[in-house]
Amino acid sequence: MHPHALLPRHADAVAGTSLERETLRRVWRFARPYRTTIGIFLAAILVSALVAIIPPFVFRAILDTAIPEGNRALVWLLALAAVAAALTEAALAIVQRWGSARVGEGLIYDLRVALFNKVQRMPIAFFTRTQTGSLISRLNNDVIGAQSAVTSTLGTAVSNAVVLVTTVAAMLALEWRLTLLSLVVLPAFIIPARRVGKRLQTIAARQMDLNAQMNTQMQERFNVSGALLVKLFGRHRDEVDAFSGRAAGVRDSGVLAAMYGRVFFVALGLVGALGAVAVYGIGAQLVVSGDITSGTLVALAALVTRVYMPLTALSNARVELLTSFVSFDRVFEVLDAPMSVVDRAGAIDLIESRGRIDIDHVTFRYPPAAEVAIPSLEAPGAPTGDPDHDVITDITLKIESGENVAIVGPSGSGKSTLAALIPRLYDVTSGAIRLDGIDVRDLTSDSLHAAIGVVSQDPHLFHESIESNLRYARPDATLEDIEAACRGARIHDTISALPDGYRTIVGERGYRFSGGEKQRLAIARLLLKNPVVMILDEATSHLDNENESLVQAALDEAMRGRTSVVIAHRLSTITNADRIVVLEHGRIVEQGTHHELMAHDGAYARQVRAGGMYASA
Ligand code: ADP
Repeated sequence: MHPHALLPRHADAVAGTSLERETLRRVWRFARPYRTTIGIFLAAILVSALVAIIPPFVFRAILDTAIPEGNRALVWLLALAAVAAALTEAALAIVQRWGSARVGEGLIYDLRVALFNKVQRMPIAFFTRTQTGSLISRLNNDVIGAQSAVTSTLGTAVSNAVVLVTTVAAMLALEWRLTLLSLVVLPAFIIPARRVGKRLQTIAARQMDLNAQMNTQMQERFNVSGALLVKLFGRHRDEVDAFSGRAAGVRDSGVLAAMYGRVFFVALGLVGALGAVAVYGIGAQLVVSGDITSGTLVALAALVTRVYMPLTALSNARVELLTSFVSFDRVFEVLDAPMSVVDRAGAIDLIESRGRIDIDHVTFRYPPAAEVAIPSLEAPGAPTGDPDHDVITDITLKIESGENVAIVGPSGSGKSTLAALIPRLYDVTSGAIRLDGIDVRDLTSDSLHAAIGVVSQDPHLFHESIESNLRYARPDATLEDIEAACRGARIHDTISALPDGYRTIVGERGYRFSGGEKQRLAIARLLLKNPVVMILDEATSHLDNENESLVQAALDEAMRGRTSVVIAHRLSTITNADRIVVLEHGRIVEQGTHHELMAHDGAYARQVRAGGMYASA
């Protein structure tokens, strides 16, 4: 969670005078499938509030009628009625819990799945700008906060309102003068109750804020790279200081919240007790003077204790509801995020692609933040993007089926960007990229991505077994397929030599592959997927000789029979390419084979002669 995102929004919402109609309508759209259950839930609340009125009347009847008349049968009957009321209340309490659990858990499920589905389909630009921790917090905390608006807050509000109305009505029916008298004291503590409620909320917000900061700190320090940084820079003590500062804040707020809460409830209990005493004190006078019966007095005293609690709860309900709706807003914010790269209506499936790529007068600039990001989820100080700056300018490049093109150029010249445009990770700003003559924007993304395989510089592996990491490329692959792909990628021997073989768990908590091994594993994954086009970002890090020749052999295997676009850094890859394309400042400055370019004696030849090659750029 963004450390500061919560506070101002909370404050706004709480200070706001009305719930936004639009938010309410959307909340209802999510709650609608549960309307029957919500109905049962609310009905159970209503009936149990009504049933709760019965016992005081039973007591009155025992005192005023049954005892004076010496009617034992009536006593039994009345006692039975009280038992029945208690049983009904118990049963209804279970129905209520069933209702709120079904609706609450159902809403959590719906919101989570909707969010996960949405986030998965967000354009890659979104992920380059978003703080993962904050995003995850939306799927955890905010989803739970949102459902509590519908179940607990709504339930509390309705049940308290019903209890209040029925109790006051019953009291008025019993003896209106005494009732009014006992209600006179109410404002004296409703007002402080509201203030205490607000204060408690501020403390809670501060606690959430500090918790979020601790989470971020832990998330960033408790992984191999973060831990390494802390160790190598000897910052262990400072980290502990920062952490303990925040933890102390949570502790102090916790104590404060507990004390406020306790003092508040003690005061409430006291007022309740005083109310009962007042009813007994004044009521007893009325009994003596014969105005009311002692049964009425007992019933009134029993009822008056039920008035104060719901009143305070209700006076806070609005604030609570508004706070819960903040969570809904934050969930909707993600669900509404712009989706820049989507399948257009009537997009077609690419069938039997031949792998001919046609880059036609393409100009590209990275989309501005407003088009791809959610401000409250962005890393603080994230670059706003430079919408006036073309990263790719008017590039035209035809790549034939089966051709092997190496893209070279200084760092920042736009090589990775150009490569990312082919599988449509971004949409071109102008011009078009076509695969087999069809604009990639007219293709379904599934078929486009089936045709294009990408091997990045530092391939990602999930914390799962090697086998399932490979199967990610083709879920129905047999073990033989997987082994064949690994043989082709020259990684089979390495895997077989591991104690658990293909079952070995990969990642920070498992086996850590070297850079060269990882890239070969990624090539194996590509071979399994068997796309017609391969895009490869060659590792810049130097490989040892053995790794180098293995990676080379794996690459040769991967390029065979495929169109390949390689962001090349190693001289052997470059010289072996069918064509070399030299980029500078987002433009193609030269292209041709190694010999042609050397003969041409331009930028490329100068680089090669200087021995620099773009590898070290
Ligand atoms: P190369 O791969 O040749 O090193 P890149 O394609 O990575 O070059 O970068 C080209 C230019 O685009 C650089 O100026 C870089 O700062 C900019 N750039 C790269 N990625 C992004 C991004 N996600 N958002 C905004 N600008 C970017």
